Formats: sequence, structure tokens, C-alpha cells
Amino acid sequence: MSDRYDHLGVEALLKSVNTYITNPAHILLIEKALLYATEKHEGQVRKSGEPYINHLIQVALILSTLKVGPKTITAGLLHDVLEDCGVPREEMVKAFDEEVTTLVESVTKIGNIEFKDEKEYLAVNHRKIFIAMAKDIRVILIKLVDRLHNMRTLKYMSPEKQKKIASETLEVYAPIAHRLGISEIKNELEDLSFFYLYPDKYYEVAQMVELRKIERDKQVETMIHDISEVLTQQNIQFRIFGRSKHLYSIYKKMTTKSKRFEEILDLNAIRIVTKNELNCYEILGHIHANYRPIPGRLKDYIAMPKMNMYQSLHTTIVGPEGSIFEVQIRTEMMDDIAEKGVAAHWRYKEGVKRSQPQEQKEIEDKLGWFKDLGMLTDESESAGEYMDILTHDVFEANVYVMSPKGRVIDLPNGSTPLDFAYRIHTEIGHSTVGAIVNNTMVPLNTVLKTGDVVQIKTSKQSNGPSEDWLKIVKTSHARSKIKGFLQHKELEDRAEFITKGHQMFIDELKRRDLDEKEYVNSKRLDSVLSHFAVSNDNDFYYALAVKSLSLAAVMEKLTTKRSILDGFNLEKLFKQPAKRSISKSGIRVAGVDSMMISLAGCCSPVPGDEIVGFISKGQGVKVHRKDCPNIKNEAKRLIDVIWDETVTEGKYDVKLFITATDRSFLVSDLVTVLSQCKAGMNSINSSVLDDKITAITNVTVVVNDAEHLKVVIANLRKVPNVLSVERSIK
Ligand code: MN
Repeated sequence: MSDRYDHLGVEALLKSVNTYITNPAHILLIEKALLYATEKHEGQVRKSGEPYINHLIQVALILSTLKVGPKTITAGLLHDVLEDCGVPREEMVKAFDEEVTTLVESVTKIGNIEFKDEKEYLAVNHRKIFIAMAKDIRVILIKLVDRLHNMRTLKYMSPEKQKKIASETLEVYAPIAHRLGISEIKNELEDLSFFYLYPDKYYEVAQMVELRKIERDKQVETMIHDISEVLTQQNIQFRIFGRSKHLYSIYKKMTTKSKRFEEILDLNAIRIVTKNELNCYEILGHIHANYRPIPGRLKDYIAMPKMNMYQSLHTTIVGPEGSIFEVQIRTEMMDDIAEKGVAAHWRYKEGVKRSQPQEQKEIEDKLGWFKDLGMLTDESESAGEYMDILTHDVFEANVYVMSPKGRVIDLPNGSTPLDFAYRIHTEIGHSTVGAIVNNTMVPLNTVLKTGDVVQIKTSKQSNGPSEDWLKIVKTSHARSKIKGFLQHKELEDRAEFITKGHQMFIDELKRRDLDEKEYVNSKRLDSVLSHFAVSNDNDFYYALAVKSLSLAAVMEKLTTKRSILDGFNLEKLFKQPAKRSISKSGIRVAGVDSMMISLAGCCSPVPGDEIVGFISKGQGVKVHRKDCPNIKNEAKRLIDVIWDETVTEGKYDVKLFITATDRSFLVSDLVTVLSQCKAGMNSINSSVLDDKITAITNVTVVVNDAEHLKVVIANLRKVPNVLSVERSIK
């Protein structure tokens, strides 16, 4: 082997991959690729006279600093094998696999595109073509790194070649690296291109930087020392360092903003890296408390990350001797993402230890949009837009939305106003009745987009979360809050029902002048419960309250030989002999003629409801629901009535009051549900309130009994946008 073989590079590569690749099989794969490439490129030399393999070792090494996966490094090592060594595709598939081979093929294809650098619009197209052909973000990474190493070794090329490659790098490769957020690579590509394209300017800037270097280094050093002292007192973990701006960015600022060198404020640049987001803001506070910030220079890219995922706080402050410092404050993770962009982003999202097929699948999912190459034929689309699609769809896992007051909330993609509401406050979530996004009323299942201004409508009268909300929310936070609410409500309801059922039983005993002690918790009751297949007292009371067990039937069983009408003392009231009546209304009242019984129109009771009779003047007995407010203070004129179970297939009108957030087809959906529930309908009218949001619907439905009504109401509540369904009482 040539003595110019890059042994140091190999050593560095293996050391680097071993820092983050833990699976020995993956290390073996990389070593195998290294041997394979070395063998295939045997005898080939680069323009520099070095063995060709050295280029591949360096490419793999740079890739490993981005901490990419083992297949990407493998493909990096093999990226010139297919074309330069005449290795057939099948052979590589056999030696490695389809995935690695496809990566290498794509890198080769892109390498063969003839980029002609003439006009700006061409560069724009080149970026498009480049991205479209890559089809896989890993191919882009390999190609960028390949180009970086070629730029580092460009001095061996002819001056014409140098200019051509440098210009292509500046127009095509650097912007792509920028859009992917890989600033490490972008900066180096720009400086190298700058050097070859405009050597005079390059030296000019470099010299100016150099001239002021000693003075600047001293200023920065002092500042670092001072800030460190401030922060150490605050007991915050941090590391702080000065950083130099790369030359091309200084040059660009001088030309595009036509500023003199002295005016480029952020030449003195300091970066502080700390533990968490909160620390970042704390540090910012301490710095502003100790140094005068320059107005308008504070940028919060933590709350509002850049499209390429960059996050950091930026501020510019005035140092002790009037020198200006740009300070960047960020967490370790933000720092990593700022340097390595999309490569780091994946690592944080998925963890390094992901399995290969999974890695492939997730990347494929992210790159689904690549398959839609139809987009490319649209000439009107700018590269900027194209990259926006790329960064938006592929690399942004989050949407950023705002409250009307400008508070920024980040949510996972696919989140809805309900997720937003729960993120603001649990109580706001629970009482949400509507959402306004960008001044427009929207359904609660609307998917939010970055930049949306979201306003939540709440109401104290809301019924709270329903099961359906679980289908709408995206965040586990909102989901767990809703589940908690529903569970709690269920328990509360059951406890309430048990108490109520117990009271019903006691009342009934009292009414019949029966001794409580003889019945409650008695053997006699136990035997009755087992007759009705009820296993314990709580279930019994619950069953009474929800009317799945008839109190009358239980009492009949308990008091065996007694009549169900025992305890009624209606003779006094009506001065008539007791007699059973059956009315068309399906209600039985001891001693009252059926003709005299009618259902109250205000609360429209249906069989199964708890009812009570009201003796009206000259109109016989009006039957109300027990909870009807119209009879609340009429205790003296009330009599007991019961539903006649022998009357079946009655039809009963019930008025329902439905509130909903308005949408089209709301009423027709409600009507559809009624017919699906086999409920009739006598009238319906719907109107939208002044808030232009709430739709109020009054509907008179026709049902068989309380059980049927329960089903109808439950199904109406499931109709999208419906907030509440209540029986109305006039
Ligand atoms: Mn190459």
C-alpha cells in the first residue's frame, strides 16, 4: 500500500464512529466498506498524487462528525466505486445491500449533472434538480460532504476548473447546506469558494480581520471573563467562548449592506451554551442587567425558530470600552442543531440507536413529498418555495401558533385548537366551546398551521370534554387531561346515582310507613336483590337511580302480600273510592279517572322519567317530571303517580335544546341522527346567535320512553360541533 495512504484518517474515522455507533455489526459494515473501496480504487490517484482512497476516508470522516447513520457512512466510502471502478450494480448489492447501493447510485447520478454557472436563474434550477434527484436526504448529505472535501483539495485543479467548481459550490451547494441548517459545512464551503472566486477580496478581508485580531481577542477574552463571573454567581451551568465570523459573511455584509469593516457590529462574537431553555432566558436577563443592550437587536429564535430549525437567543450589547459584542445564547442541543442542522435534528428526534429498517422507514416517510416529482414541472415555483416545502414538510415536526396576545405555542403537526386550549390551561380546555383561527370561526378539529392566531371560546355552561374530543386532539397532554375528566365524571356520576337511589328507597319506605331498619341491609332485601340478580347494595341503588330496576317491582317483591297501592292515601284527596285507571298517557293514578290525566307541556315527561302529579284547578291531574321547576313550590297539590307498564308503544313529545358551534349541514346532520335513532320529529328550528358562532336549535322529538330518549340525546351529542343537548323546560 502506498505510504501516502491516509492512516491517520482511518484512525480518526474509527474513533469517531465508535463514539456514537454502538452496534458492532454496524462498525463491521463500515470497516468492510473501507476495505472494499481500498481494494477497488487500488492504483488510482488524485490530482494531488495521493491515493484515491484518501478522499473517501475523509468524506466518511466528515460524515461521522455529523453523526449520520452507518449506512450513510458506508455509502460515503463507496460513493465513487460504481462509476470509477466499473463495479456492476449487482456485485455491490451482493456485497452490501440494496439500500447502500441505491444511495451510491443516487450520489453518482447527481455527480453527473452538468451545472453550468451563467445566470442566477440557472443556479436556482440547479438547486431544484439537485434536490429532486437526490430523493433521499442522506444522498444530499453525502454529496455536500463530497463537495466539501473536493473544495478543501481544490488547489490541485487548474485555475479554470477551480473557478467553475467554486462558483457552483457557492450557488448550489452552500445554499442547500444553509437550508438544511448545516452551518458548519455551509460556512466552510462559502469561505473556500470566496477564496477561489475573489482572491483579492478574500485577502483584503482576511488581512483586516488579522490586523484587528490581537486587539479583538483581548476584548473578547476580557468580556468572557466578566460575563463568566456574573453567571458563576448565579449558579447557572454554562460554557462560554468567543467565535470568529467566517470571512465570506463579513464580505457579504460589507457589500450587501455597504458597511465599512468597522461598522460590522458582530465581529466580536460570544456564544454561551447552557443546559436548558429556561437557563437561556435567565442568562439573557443577567447579561442585560449588567451590559447595555442595543435596542432592536434582540432576537428570540427560541420562541420563533428559523425555517432551518435554528434556535438561539441573539442580543447585542455594549462592552466596557464601548466595544460591541454579539452574544448568542442557546442550549447544547440547539448548538448542535445550529452547526449540523438536519443531521442533528434527526438524531435528537429519533435517537442514534434506532434500528436500520426503522431509520429507513422514517426517512422515507419524511421524504414522501420527493415522490411527487410533478411539483418540479411547475416552472413558476421558485427554489425558495421548493425549499420551503422541503423544510416545512420534511424537517419541521412542529407548528408554531400564537395566542391573540402574541404568545407562541409550539405543537406537534396535526394539532387542533383543542390541543392549543389544553396547552394554555386545563380549565380552558375543559370549557372550550369554539375556536377562532385568524379571525374565522372554525370547527374544533381544524388542523393548525404555523403562524395561525388562535383564540379559544369558552363557556361556563359547556358540558366539558366528551369522548369525541379524544379523536380530535393530537397531543398526549390534552388526551390525558380529557381522559382524566371523563373518568372523574363517570365516578362522580356513579356515586351521585348511588346516593340518589338510596334516598329513593328510603323515601319509598317512609311513604309506605315501613320501618327502615327492617328493610335496609336486611336479609329480606338481600333475597330480593338476588331475585333481580343484583349483587350488592351499591349496584342496587345505582340500578334504582338509573331506572334499570323498577322501584315498584322491588317494593312489590319486598312487601310480598301488600298491594303496590298500599300507602297511597288518595281517598281523602278525591273523596272517591280507590280505583286503578289506565290513561292514554300511560300513567296510572290511584283513584283518578284516566280522562283527567294529562302530561304537562312544560317538561314533557316520558315513561321512565321520575314523575309526579299536580292537581290543577278544573283540569284534572297534570303529570310533571319530578325535577320540573314549575311545581317546585306546589308540594301541597302533588300526588304520586306511576307509569303504567302495560301501556306500550306510546309516543311522547320531548322538546330538546341543542347548542353547537355553527357549521354548514348542522341541522341536516341532526335530523339524520334522529331518523337513525328511529325518533320522530315534530318541529325543528335553528338560529345563530349574535356572536356568529353559537347555533341554537330547538327540536321537538317523538320518542317511546326515557331509555329511547337517552339514546337519542347521546347520539345527538356525538354530532360534530354539538356542544350540549338538553331537555328544555318552559
Ligand atoms: Mn467523490
